[in-house]
Formats: sequence, structure tokens, C-alpha cells
Amino acid sequence: MNRIKVGILGATGMVGQRFIQLLEGHPWFEVTEVAASERSANRTYAEVMQGRWKVEGDIPPRVAQLTVKECTPELDCRLCFSALDSSVAGPLEETFAQAGYVVSSNSRNHRMDPDVPLLIPEVNADHLAIIPQQKSRWGSNGYIITNPNCAAIGLVMALAPLHKRFDVDKIIVTTLQGLSGAGYPGVPSLDVIDNVVPFIGGEEPKVESEPLKILGSLNGGQFVFADFQISASCTRVHVLDGHLESVNIGLKQKASAADLIDTWQEFDPLNNQELPSAPSPPLIYRREDDRPQPRRDRNEGNGMACVVGRLRKCSILDYKFFVLSHNTIRGAAGGAILNAEYLFKKDLL
Ligand code: NAP
Repeated sequence: MNRIKVGILGATGMVGQRFIQLLEGHPWFEVTEVAASERSANRTYAEVMQGRWKVEGDIPPRVAQLTVKECTPELDCRLCFSALDSSVAGPLEETFAQAGYVVSSNSRNHRMDPDVPLLIPEVNADHLAIIPQQKSRWGSNGYIITNPNCAAIGLVMALAPLHKRFDVDKIIVTTLQGLSGAGYPGVPSLDVIDNVVPFIGGEEPKVESEPLKILGSLNGGQFVFADFQISASCTRVHVLDGHLESVNIGLKQKASAADLIDTWQEFDPLNNQELPSAPSPPLIYRREDDRPQPRRDRNEGNGMACVVGRLRKCSILDYKFFVLSHNTIRGAAGGAILNAEYLFKKDLL
């Protein structure tokens, strides 16, 4: 089959590199354009990335020789993955949607827009029904979809099947977030070695609000947010990749610990869709006392599965557990690629 031409906006950043790495050899998508700021434009990707390529392996040779362009909507592709810095992503992504491109974004700017799906295909694929409304806003055949914040994704994956069956009442979550989530060069080594930083600017409001949109419903052309509250505390820890989260949960319906584990283990809504990046199963429950751990568990399902463990009674809410997700794969580039695969499968590209 002819692969679909895709462009990467923000191709030179940490997440942009991850897109290029994950898309190499993709059966449906082929990177034909790399774009970034005017600082990087008009040189080959290999030249621009000298000393900046930080993900495993080398730059794929075909991408290395592409000329980096500016982020203007004159790129030769139908689909753009956006890994743009959030200071510029908002208006640039809009320009592309208006010009008729499909934008699968990883940036926060449009996540909470009333006509933009904040998508996890395993959880809220029905939210894509809002797309015609968005297309009429742009007056084009283009549109934007987004994937959640890298700390929200693991939490939502663990909550989605529980919420469906037992109705979540309250959540308290404390995150221990890996360093790559801060991009490159990220947190200064003198701040983080031998340390934990109990603050990540802007993160807690995202973790408290995005899950409610994703776990809500689309009703009469409007998103109705899920009706429970989340209290989040976000910390940066001395781990390269992987966000571990300690979650306390209150449920409206009674459930045993075995019910919760069964519910997680039965969760595999995409198992017959044959999407190249979809992990099967998307949630793995580890019964050992000391799992999940970032270094040992973050690459489950090629970094696309979330790992849950240490389910136990909570003396204040009902239960508590840990969940782990890979922040630059499931929480960033891999998540946006899976979203685009779902669009392709449903003839929305
Ligand atoms: P990054 O390493 O700082 O990369 C930012 C990218 O944006 C670079 O390609 C940069 O190009 C481009 N850019 C900056 N200003 C621009 C402009 N005026 N016009 C066009 N392009 C411009 O950031 P990152 O860590 O990859 O994150 C990218 C996005 O993903 C952010 O919105 C971030 O919040 C989000 N995110 C990151 C993670 C993570 O784990 N790191 C997870 C989830 C979401 P130049 O190289 O030319 O400056």
C-alpha cells in the first residue's frame, strides 16, 4: 500500500525525535517533512541535530537528509504530528487545521477546546464524533486531535475500566515523574541529583482536569465532564523515563480487590483493531509487592502499555495502587501515533 505522507512539527525537540524514531518503518505512515523554528530551517535534519539527537539508535538515513522547513502550511503531507513548544503550538496548529491538514498534537494548547477530542482510543473513541463540528469552525477538511498530558495518561488508563464499572467518586494522586518529561536539557542536574523536586509548573491543573474530559461523554455536540474530583500533587524525580503515580481511589459502587484486578485484566478494547502501535493488553497488573518500577516496567508493550500494581485497601478512601506509564512513548509521541492510526482505521484521514 502507498503509505500516508506525514510531517513532524517541532521535529527537532525531544518529542519530535521520538516521533521520528517510532515512525521509522511504520506500515501506514511515512515521514516526508520535518519542520521546526526558523532557527533550524533550511539545513538538513542531520546537520540541525548534530549533538541534539538523544533517543536510542541513529537518525533514520532517509529522514537525516530531509531539509528542515519552517512550520508553514505548505508541507507535502496530509497528516502532521505536532511536538511544538506550547508557547507556539496554539496558533500554528490552528493554521494547519485551517489549511486542511489533520493535526495529531501532543501539546497542551487545544486539549480542552470544546470541539477538540482529547483522545485515548481505548477509552473515548466516540469523542471523535465532534470532528465535523470542528471542521466547520476552520471551514476546511482539516482538524486537530490531541493526546493527554504525560501524567494524565497512566491515571486515565487505570481509571477508565474502573469508572465504567464502579463509578469513581474521588481520586488523590501523587506523581513521581521522570526527567525526560521536562524536555532537553530539562531540569538542571544540580537541582535533581540526590533530590526530588515537589513542583512541576502547570502540571497539577492538567492532571486534575484532563481525565474528567476524557472520561466524560459527548452529548448533543458538547463534552460533559465526568462527575468526580481529582486532587493531584506532582513531583520530579531522578528517573530518566517513566511516570510512576500513587493513586488513592473512592468508588460509588462496592467492589472487592479481586473485582478491580479482574476489571483491569479484562480491559482490551482495541484487541481486534490491528493498530500497529496498540499494546495488547494495554493494562498489565503486576502482583509482586515491589512493582511497577520505572526502570523495569516502562517498556511493556513497547512503551505503550501501562503497568498497575500494589492494589491494597485505603483507610481513608476505598483502595490505593500504583500505575506506571512511559512518558515520551505512551505519554507523548506513541500516544499521538496510536491516535492517528485509529483515525486511519476509521477512514477519518
Ligand atoms: P522541546 O524539546 O523544547 O522541542 C520544542 C520544539 O518546538 C522544537 O522542535 C523547536 O524547534 C520547536 N519550536 C520552538 N519554537 C518554535 C517556533 N517559534 N516555531 C516553530 N517551531 C518552534 O520540547 P519537547 O519536550 O519535545 O515537548 C514538545 C511538546 O510536547 C511541548 O508542548 C510539551 O509540553 C509536550 N509534551 C512533552 C512531553 C515530554 O515527555 N517531553 C510529554 C508530553 C507532552 P527549534 O529546535 O527550531 O527551536
